[in-house]
Amino acid sequence: MDRFVQAVPPPADPYAGDPLLRSWLERVLGPAGHAAAKDRLAALAADVVGPLRAAHADAENNPPRLVRYDAWGARVDRIETSDGWQRQRAAAARHAVVALPYLPDARATWGAAARVVQHALLHLYGPESATFSCPVAMADGAAALLSRPEVDPAVRDAWLPRLVATDPDVAVTSGQWMTESQGGSDLSRSSTVATAAAGGWRLTGEKWFCSAADSAVAVALARPDGAGPGSRVLAPFLVPRYDGAGATAPGIRVHRLKDKLGTRALPTAEIGLRGVAALPLGDPADPGGLARAMTLVVVTRLHNAAAAAGGMRRGLAYALAFAAARTVAGGPLAASPLHRATLGTLAVDAAGAFALAAHAFALLGRVEVGADPFAAAELRIVAPLAKLATGKLAVSSASEYVEAFGGAGYVEDTGVPRLLRDAQVLPIWEGTTNVLALDALRAVVRDDAAGPLLARLDAAQVVARGLSPAMADQLAAATAALRADLGEVAADPTAAAVAGARGLALRMAYALTAALLVEHATTGDEQAEVTARLWARRWLRHDDIAVDAHHHLDVLA
Ligand SMILES: Cc1cc2nc3c(=O)[nH]c(=O)nc-3n(C[C@H](O)[C@H](O)[C@H](O)COP(=O)(O)OP(=O)(O)OC[C@H]3O[C@@H](n4cnc5c(N)ncnc54)[C@H](O)[C@@H]3O)c2cc1C
Repeated sequence: MDRFVQAVPPPADPYAGDPLLRSWLERVLGPAGHAAAKDRLAALAADVVGPLRAAHADAENNPPRLVRYDAWGARVDRIETSDGWQRQRAAAARHAVVALPYLPDARATWGAAARVVQHALLHLYGPESATFSCPVAMADGAAALLSRPEVDPAVRDAWLPRLVATDPDVAVTSGQWMTESQGGSDLSRSSTVATAAAGGWRLTGEKWFCSAADSAVAVALARPDGAGPGSRVLAPFLVPRYDGAGATAPGIRVHRLKDKLGTRALPTAEIGLRGVAALPLGDPADPGGLARAMTLVVVTRLHNAAAAAGGMRRGLAYALAFAAARTVAGGPLAASPLHRATLGTLAVDAAGAFALAAHAFALLGRVEVGADPFAAAELRIVAPLAKLATGKLAVSSASEYVEAFGGAGYVEDTGVPRLLRDAQVLPIWEGTTNVLALDALRAVVRDDAAGPLLARLDAAQVVARGLSPAMADQLAAATAALRADLGEVAADPTAAAVAGARGLALRMAYALTAALLVEHATTGDEQAEVTARLWARRWLRHDDIAVDAHHHLDVLA
């Protein structure tokens, strides 16, 4: 008897096969703006389904290795990475995944919306990049920080062009050395010290989680000697990782690489610093050092949201392809009403995550290009909300995508288990869910950020009325409840407000997402209209949307 072998077609082209991405770009960029981006997006998508998918598999199968000593016993602290990792690095540069918003011709074509195009690139590139999306995020964050006016032009001119280069032979990435073993969330406990010496600044301390530890530079937080306690006085420094000959810079000790649940192709190291030469990013004596470093953190938080949304969409594509090929109960799995309901519900979540991430990037562009104060006020609350909500959605969705493959989803060489492992980092790094919920609470209480959020929700209700009275009522009820609760916590930010911060932040994020999907539904696009309606029912009313999700799967996905 022949052995049955399940054929599984690879998922569709991620640009051509993602109607939400396309209609979103058409609306936000306008037809001419979208047309100008099409060649870039199509070229990246073609690489993703071809050589980059292979590079991704190679990098996952050949994790990085730390070589501490050379043959003669000299300490070298060299991190060896796979060919696949190097191919991902080159592709990220070539496709301008970091560089796009910094390129003069991109800014001339799309203005502030160059960040929207970059988000579309990340959406395509991230899920099968073997988490090279992580050094991409940190390089972008470092580039944004180096672009600040407080940074010494000599430092900027030496490194910014390389961080945003599109020539793979020139381009470099950055690490980000913030977390110490005694406190990742609580930066006030940081003990790395920066000392001004003849010939420049020197850093001494221990960093506990340093991803992309093979990068050419890292942004490290350190306490300038004599600066006193607390986190606000911490200052960002740029640390060149290698000397002029390409060897590990003097004073850098790579203790070991972390053995992680996921992100296995990504070298994450524990690093000791012993008087390492570092370049200040702004005046270390200025007590606003941490605020400067937040420029980087906001960018990496947005990349985290993009990674979450991109991974969810790719998981859906994998699951759809499998369901079309797999037979159950005498018919294709894709015809099962119950499985269709599961996938349709996941499609609604993927769309919501996409809308949040896309909106956050659009705001960032408006802040950077136009110094738009309204966008800055909204981004203050949207950045933590987008990162927090998409991180949680990505983990719950990834679990469903693994299950959608049955036993095969649990078997390593199908590539499916990685979806779940890699999703789990998203709610942890760059601020856990609790830490971001507290940040969102601070934004409301201290920075008056409820205003821009509520204004968007109010405007969306008016639009929703013309689309679906039921959806408008759901949005109105959610907004009224939020308005009352936000007023209460602003007036009395006591322990009760802190205990409820996560729930409140998630409700803000769900309502904001509903508003963004309603805005998109004004295009008259059927997918946008159905998605907005189902998101509002699922996340504002907590209805079971299974029956509608089953009926509308073909439209939703
Ligand atoms: C794969 C991976 C890669 C990473 N890469 C980097 C990197 O490149 N650079 C870098 O600097 N860091 C990196 N990190 C570290 C990451 O940013 C930290 O792990 C994270 O910020 C949490 O810090 P922590 O581990 O010290 O946990 P803790 O801060 O000790 O948190 C433990 C728990 O306490 C909760 N908690 C913390 N503070 C509060 C509070 N005030 N109120 C309520 N609850 C709270 C948290 O939500 C969490 O559940 C990486 C982490 C991972 C997993």
